[in-house]
Amino acid sequence: MVSRIFIRTSAILLSVLVGFTVLISSLIFIPNTPLPDAWNPRKPLTPLTAPNFLTPYKMRFAINDFGACQRALTQLGANFIVLPDKVVSDQCHIRDQVQIKNLSHARVSALKTTCGMALRLTMWEYHHVQPTAKATIGKLVNKIDQIGSYNCREIRSANGPTDRMSEHATANAVDISGFQLSTGERISVLKNWNGTADERQFMRRVRDGGCGLFRITLSPEYNDLHADHFHFDQGRWSSCN
Ligand SMILES: [Zn+2]
Repeated sequence: MVSRIFIRTSAILLSVLVGFTVLISSLIFIPNTPLPDAWNPRKPLTPLTAPNFLTPYKMRFAINDFGACQRALTQLGANFIVLPDKVVSDQCHIRDQVQIKNLSHARVSALKTTCGMALRLTMWEYHHVQPTAKATIGKLVNKIDQIGSYNCREIRSANGPTDRMSEHATANAVDISGFQLSTGERISVLKNWNGTADERQFMRRVRDGGCGLFRITLSPEYNDLHADHFHFDQGRWSSCN
């Protein structure tokens, strides 16, 4: 009796699963599908729509196609110029290089980096920094302070230097030290990570937003080496601290 109920339940669940799979597949593959582009894995990244579970997958294609990356940056309203590749050695280079001065709204101190990092940074500013600043501190952010992307060096750890190259060696990383608000005041990771309740909330929420858009996000919670900045990168590993 019990096994008959089990078989019947399994058959129902299997039918529901097959039906759901058929429905999703047809929505993805039929022409003029009503599925929004942001939820369709066959469509390119839609940088202005809120990130979802498909964003990391679509981001990979956008950052591996220089033209697609530039188009996404333009859609976000970024002000950037394309620079030639900088190749110092096999380990140290900036490929698909751009210089970006304006993200979607906020300025950034002139940043030379890979197009992929510029795209992730601009999406972070658009989807997380500005809405979170408005919701927590009640102001917009006019400028984001960065303290470097390209740096031909090895990884520094809390235990000293390592023999592995940093993602900074290929400009696949950027360090953010603070934010200038629309009122002119400046809040920094160093001073305001443990600042007022609003500042603390802002800092933690933009850090968490970074975790959804970058491969690695490190904040003061990671170690003392990151007490004064957020480290974001698009390397092979994934981590959120
Ligand atoms: Zn860094």
